[in-house]
This record gives sequence, C-alpha cells and structure tokens, in this order.
Amino acid sequence: MLTVETTKTWLSLFIEKLEMNEKYLNTLDESIGDGDHGANMLRGAQYLKAKLAEDTQSGSAELFRMAGMSFIQKTGGAAGLLYGQAFLHMSQSLQEGDDLLGILASGLEGIKKVGQAELREKTLVDVWIPVTEDVRNKRLTLDRINEHVISTKDFKAKKGRAAYVSEQLNGHVDPGAASCGYFFEAMLEAGV
Ligand code: ADP
Ligand code: MG
Ligand code: MG
Repeated sequence: MLTVETTKTWLSLFIEKLEMNEKYLNTLDESIGDGDHGANMLRGAQYLKAKLAEDTQSGSAELFRMAGMSFIQKTGGAAGLLYGQAFLHMSQSLQEGDDLLGILASGLEGIKKVGQAELREKTLVDVWIPVTEDVRNKRLTLDRINEHVISTKDFKAKKGRAAYVSEQLNGHVDPGAASCGYFFEAMLEAGV
C-alpha cells in the first residue's frame, strides 16, 4: 500500500542503498562513462535525506515532489534530470489518485520525455519498463529486479555518455540501471 509512511520508507531505503553503493556505481560508470554516477546520485540522496528528516506533514505526492527537486538540483547530469522528471511525474500522478501501476507508468513517461530512450539501449528504462510489467502481472521479486539489472550487460549503449565509448557492448551493467534496481528493491522492501 502506498501511504505516507511507506513512501517515506521507500525513499529512505533508496537513499540508504545509494549511500552504501556509491563506489560500486562509480566503478560501473568508469567502464562506460565518466565514473561519477554514484557520486552524482549521492548528492541528490543526501539532500533529500536532510529534507525528509525535517519534514513532518507532507503527503506522498509532496514527498515525491521533494525527491524530484532534490535530484534535479543536486545530482545534476543525465541521471539528475531523468530521476528528477520521473519523481515529479510520479508526484503528479499521486496527486491525481493513481495506484502504484499508474504512478510507475507516469514515472516512465517522465524519463522518456527527457531521454527518449527505448528498451535495450542500456539505460534505466531497461529496468523501469520490465519492473512495471512485473508489477502489472503481480510477480515482482528481488530476483526479478536483479535479472533486469543484469540484462543490461549485453545491451549496446545508444544514449548518454556511454554511447560515445568505443567498447559499448562490454559486458558491464549500466550504472543507471543498477541505481534504478536499488529504487525498486527499496519499493519492495518498503511494502508499497
Ligand atoms: P552523466 O552521464 O551526466 O555523467 P550519470 O553518470 O549520473 O550522468 O548517469 C548515467 C546514467 O544515466 C546511465 O548509466 C544511463 O542509465 C542513464 N541515461 C543516460 N542517458 C539516458 C537517456 N537518454 N535515457 C535514459 N537513461 C539515460
Ligand atoms: Mg557519469
Ligand atoms: Mg558526469
């Protein structure tokens, strides 16, 4: 169930996972980009953490708006805009009373609006789309999330910095797909 409490837990667990895996995400980004994805995500996460700590009265939609603004303002780069727009769209969708499936679909719209990525282009969309399908079919598990993240190893990057690296089909997990995996692990663990 999506309540204020589970939304807060969802975002807090995501922040925790980004804190714990900053170096890993940087390392993934070193192989196909500029090595900063973990550091970028951490900046947005820590800013949001401070905001959540002082918040007492926001509803779920407001919490996601806060998340969107934090990632846009503090994370920067491609990921900041992509996650930021995803969260802002989710916030809007929450305001309209949508259920989890509707909210995830709106988040994806936000990501696509900014990045125009399609499936199998080695981006967070490669996790977001199949996770949304799994939610629709009521079969999302931690294992399935992990499979979706791992699947990006074999995709050839066509978007973002990774598209300019010569060895695109390099057996590396996409950093944005990995951080997106943490977001959905946090969702499951929060009991949303
Ligand atoms: P930057 O490339 O500006 O350094 P990050 O390293 O923080 O930004 O984020 C890189 C991640 O952003 C990639 O691993 C990929 O998942 C995601 N990404 C890049 N471009 C796009 C896009 N057009 N659509 C969706 N995701 C994208
Ligand atoms: Mg980068
Ligand atoms: Mg960068």
